[in-house]
Amino acid sequence: MVEDQLRARGIRDRAVLATMTQVPRHKFVLPSFQHLAYADHPLPIGFDQTISQPYIVGYMTEAAEISPEDKVLEIGTGSGYQAAILAELSREVYTIEIIPELAARARTLLRDLGYTNVHVRTGDGYAGWREQAPFDAILVTAAPDHVPQALVEQLAVNGRMIIPLGAGEQEMRVITKTTAGLIHRSTLLVRFVPLVRSDTARR
Ligand code: SAH
Repeated sequence: MVEDQLRARGIRDRAVLATMTQVPRHKFVLPSFQHLAYADHPLPIGFDQTISQPYIVGYMTEAAEISPEDKVLEIGTGSGYQAAILAELSREVYTIEIIPELAARARTLLRDLGYTNVHVRTGDGYAGWREQAPFDAILVTAAPDHVPQALVEQLAVNGRMIIPLGAGEQEMRVITKTTAGLIHRSTLLVRFVPLVRSDTARR
C-alpha cells in the first residue's frame, strides 16, 4: 500500500509514510472487508459511511504538515483510522463524529490500540471543539459546501485546514491562516460523503 499507492503517487513525507506503514488499517475495517483493507479504495464502515482511500489519508496528512507538538482537530471520526495516523504524528488529537455508534466504536478501538492522546466526541463538526481551540491543524473528512466559520475561528495563526469543498465532486482546499487572513490553495478533485447539517442554525 505505502509503496504503490502513496510513494508512487508523490507522498514524500517520511514520517507520514512510516506511520502509514505501522498503523494496522485492517483493524479499522469491518470483518467482511478485512481482505481489502490495504486496497486502493474507500471501504464501507456501516451507517452508509466509509473509511477513506489510503492515498487520500496520506495526502491530507502530508498537506497538514503535522509536527510532534501540534494539537489537531479532525471532523468526521468514522472508523478512527485517520485519527490514529494523526495521533502518531502529533501531541493531541480531538475528533468529532456525528453518528454515536461510530464514535463509540472508534473510541473503543483507539483505546484498545493504546492511543491515549485521541479524544473522541459525538457531536456536530460544524461547531468544532471550542474548549480545546486553537488547533495547529484541522482535517475535515466529510464535505461541506462552505468553510464552517467556527473552524476558521478555531484554527491557530499559521495553522492549516485541509477540507474538501463542494457538492458531488469536491475540490480539496489547503487553507493557511495568517495574520493577514486566509490563503486558499485548491488541489485534488475528490469525492467525500457530505458533512451533514443538524437542524441548528449555523454560519
Ligand atoms: N476520517 C474517517 C472517514 C470519515 S467518513 C476515517 O478515517 O475512517 C466521514 C465521517 O464524517 C462519517 O463517519 C460521518 O458520519 C461523519 N460526519 C458527517 N457529517 C458530520 C458532522 N456534521 N459532524 C461530525 N461528523 C460528521
